[in-house]
Amino acid sequence: MVIEPKPGTYALILSCASNARIQVGRLGTMQLQRGYYVYLGSALGPGGLRARIAHHQELSTRPHWHIDYLRAHTRLHSVWVRYDGRRREHEWAREMQKVKGAMIPLLRFGASDCSCPSHLYFFKDRPRRTSFQAKCPLEVAAGELPAEDSVFLPMQDV
Ligand SMILES: [Zn+2]
Repeated sequence: MVIEPKPGTYALILSCASNARIQVGRLGTMQLQRGYYVYLGSALGPGGLRARIAHHQELSTRPHWHIDYLRAHTRLHSVWVRYDGRRREHEWAREMQKVKGAMIPLLRFGASDCSCPSHLYFFKDRPRRTSFQAKCPLEVAAGELPAEDSVFLPMQDV
């Protein structure tokens, strides 16, 4: 998968095999569950989506965003993207909340500066791209990192 250095919005699909209780910066603690976490964000700055997704592929030694704390306990399963100069993360968060089975694991996660209840959703079963895509168009060619690629990512499952 090639992610281009263009602005856009993305969804990280993270698989979790941990039931640890983790600290998420100053936001609070979160009880992890086995299943899938979906995080919505936008990258409109220099390097665009390519730089941002590269950041999420690495594990942060100095966590900055809420997602950096969760990322250390999960594997990056796939990424959905849309190239667009418009910040669509809030719109995507609203739609993700409507997907069947969506739960909010921690209020205000990734949503300190907006009115969304959260930019992170939990699912027992992996959410499928097709139903979400009907509401929020995604890039098809570069949109999904095949599951096999995730073996190249750092594994920190506890
Ligand atoms: Zn928001």
